[in-house]
Amino acid sequence: MLQKANAFMKQANLIDGAWVDADSGATIDVINPANGQKLGTVPKSGKAETARAIDAAHKAFQTFRKTTANERSKMLRKLHDVIMDNQLALAELLTLEQGKSMAESKGEIAFSAAYVLWFAEEARRTYGDVVPSPWADRRVIVTREPVGPIAAITPWNFPSSMLARKIGPAIAAGCTSVVKPASQTPYSGLAWGALAEEAGIPKGVINVVTGSASEIGDELCYNPLIKKITFTGSTEVGKMLMEKAAKTVKKVSMELGGNAPFLVFDDADIDRAVEGAIAAKYRNSGQTCVCTNRFFVQAGVHDEFVEKLAKASNNLKVGPGTEDGVQQGPLIDEKAVEKVEEFIADATANGGKVVTGGHRHALGGSFFEPTVISGATPKMKFMKEEIFGPLAPVFRFEKEEEAVALANDTEFGLACYFYTSDLGRAFRVMEGLKYGMVGVNEGIITTPEAPFGGVKESGLGREGGHQGIEDYLDTKYVCIGGLGL
Ligand code: ADP
Repeated sequence: MLQKANAFMKQANLIDGAWVDADSGATIDVINPANGQKLGTVPKSGKAETARAIDAAHKAFQTFRKTTANERSKMLRKLHDVIMDNQLALAELLTLEQGKSMAESKGEIAFSAAYVLWFAEEARRTYGDVVPSPWADRRVIVTREPVGPIAAITPWNFPSSMLARKIGPAIAAGCTSVVKPASQTPYSGLAWGALAEEAGIPKGVINVVTGSASEIGDELCYNPLIKKITFTGSTEVGKMLMEKAAKTVKKVSMELGGNAPFLVFDDADIDRAVEGAIAAKYRNSGQTCVCTNRFFVQAGVHDEFVEKLAKASNNLKVGPGTEDGVQQGPLIDEKAVEKVEEFIADATANGGKVVTGGHRHALGGSFFEPTVISGATPKMKFMKEEIFGPLAPVFRFEKEEEAVALANDTEFGLACYFYTSDLGRAFRVMEGLKYGMVGVNEGIITTPEAPFGGVKESGLGREGGHQGIEDYLDTKYVCIGGLGL
């Protein structure tokens, strides 16, 4: 199995078109979360290697910025084809280092390719304006230009597709990149370097460094040659990067934490809601920023929903992602398991009832049973904090306004979901929820065509949609005078 993935399993950093080790020769071990075994190593790079990667991106930008939109569009289409030609190998690599099921990994790789294709198309639509001039002898033109070399820092939960949303628009806009993948899942990030080479993307356009997050992060933030930071990860780290990026007034895009509510009203189609709930809760074993964190269910359908959700949760097949039919892989590490246990202990100590699951899985390691808790209350920890695991807490509510107020009672505002068959209520609730993305009678809503992103402390900027390229472009106003007209 590893053999097929090997072509993309790069154990070196890509800087200026060369695969290199850390200057010190130091490495970080990469562990398979399904069995705790070492898959290999990656370089433990720091400030010096990052500075060289930035220089390479800066140098490459001087020519890359002059390529035509059509040329970049073709590069991205080629990149899309290379990804899809190697979907299985890339998916295997992803499952080995991240743990998710092969079905989800194949889906993520196809999703990465879909983002790249979307931005291949958007590359040719970065229109400017010709504005009616207030002067008879001058003309007013507005153009769009690439911001320059960008830095991308990504997490371990979607190590491939989170980069697709950043590398795709960067190339489309004419920007070069320095990428830092998460240390738990560096191979899917380094694979973008290998894919770019195979797609014929010029050297220095994509550079990938792995290693000390704070050293690499500081250099990316403080180095004036980097013009934009795009980050997906925790709110805590995102805030810190924003502060550091302020020193050189870089553009920032931030995809941070979520605390997604999932509301089920009395008039909802309960079976459909349960199906959506399973998808919105347990995707990637609950380790996504748009995973449902809190279920709010109206009194009239509460018991039926809890019973059906518990049954469906219990039916999920847990196991190593490489095994056929597995739906729930391991959590990323022991810390993640301990965190889920803490949420359960806190809930039960405050009167919550475990309806199904509640324990580490018999498979051991970082496997955990899909868990449903009823009797959830706003005093419990998951009201405010992101669970990031396979735990579904259910709150009971009576009135629509009460549910909307509870749903909004968080500093986060990424995704939310609700189920109803009443059209008036659908608009009322949709307009009342302070979130960047809303699923109405749908539990999975992400797609390259739509703008993904949050409000409040969930972040800044949008990825995907026609908005997804905006942050990679500067606006330039040109006034042409003395025309003698
Ligand atoms: P998670 O909880 O999902 O691991 P993090 O925000 O800790 O979220 O990690 C997301 C990404 O941010 C990873 O690539 C990680 O290495 C990186 N990161 C963590 N700390 C820092 C830091 N101090 N500076 C820059 N990047 C960091």
